[in-house]
Amino acid sequence: MSDHKEDFIIQPQINQDINPDSLPEFYKPLSRISTDVDFEKDGKQVSFIRVPHSRNDSAWGSILIPIVVYKNGTGPTILLTGGIHGDEYEGPIALSLLTRTLKLEQVQGRVIILPAVNLPALMNDSRLSPIDNLDLNRSFPGNRDGSPTQAIAHYLDKILLPLTDIVVDLHSGGKSLDFVPSIAMHRLNDKKQYDDTYKALMAFGAPYGFIHSEVDGDGTFDTTAENKGDVFLFSELRGGGTVSVEGVQVARNGIRNILEHFEIAELPKIKAPHWNARQTQVILDTSHSDSYVRALTEGIFEPFFELGHEVKKGKSIGRIHFMQNMNKKPVTIQAQHSGIIVGKRAMGWVSQGDCLAVIGNEIKG
Ligand SMILES: [Zn+2]
Repeated sequence: MSDHKEDFIIQPQINQDINPDSLPEFYKPLSRISTDVDFEKDGKQVSFIRVPHSRNDSAWGSILIPIVVYKNGTGPTILLTGGIHGDEYEGPIALSLLTRTLKLEQVQGRVIILPAVNLPALMNDSRLSPIDNLDLNRSFPGNRDGSPTQAIAHYLDKILLPLTDIVVDLHSGGKSLDFVPSIAMHRLNDKKQYDDTYKALMAFGAPYGFIHSEVDGDGTFDTTAENKGDVFLFSELRGGGTVSVEGVQVARNGIRNILEHFEIAELPKIKAPHWNARQTQVILDTSHSDSYVRALTEGIFEPFFELGHEVKKGKSIGRIHFMQNMNKKPVTIQAQHSGIIVGKRAMGWVSQGDCLAVIGNEIKG
């Protein structure tokens, strides 16, 4: 029997000339997200980045996120992003308009525009992506092989940020918060990076400028870009789930001013009757641990102030009403320090831990 066993075994055909150790590895691109944009090519390219997203109703499906790239002459690279959160609209509107008005011949350097970075969130009108329930701005540095939100964060970190010198990331308060129209930066250890960022903050020309120490920077786009040495600015352009007329104008005017400040493009003044200033007006520090007033109980929050109002330490800024029990008195909320109300809760019902207000201190001189 044993003599014939060999007849029934198929022997693999081994080519003796090939050394398996020298075989090339299977090609694995840096990102699973692909694009037909050539970032080194001169010209204006209007296209998409393609995020693979296989699902029940779309085998081999993709999410196509719009991207517009201008490259002309020599100069720095600026990355302009909107829609990292899907319920913040002024940035996506301003950047969408920019792609229609900016002409290639006006550009010196490279302008990379993504008006709807987290497109699934925008299409769902929600802060987080409905696909994986993740906050893109808490998903950095991302994961090549992760969910769509993690893959987008990874693409920004590994593919776009290495090309970039300056980032302006346009946010608003979203459905739950409302902010004065503002441009913001973090305190940075590197003096040159801080000075360059501060000059850009001033040049943006918003009604308010915030400087704050990041208390929870892990996983944010901000910290990722700052650690690479970029100038990084981010905005808050009102919120509360609406589109602010002033907020859109502050965003459009600010981007125009920033392109001029870095000598990337000189655009005509934006027609903006509500806001077209060339310099940021009031600089506020929002670094204090008491800058953020939080709810300690649930109920309806009744604020006693509007945005931009000044409050004194110890004064009541609002109260929470217990709607389940009329025997319980409302709880009054006091300001823990003096300053200007720059952000406030936009939704009536609050839960324990929700941010009720943000108080900024004016920085003199
Ligand atoms: Zn946001």
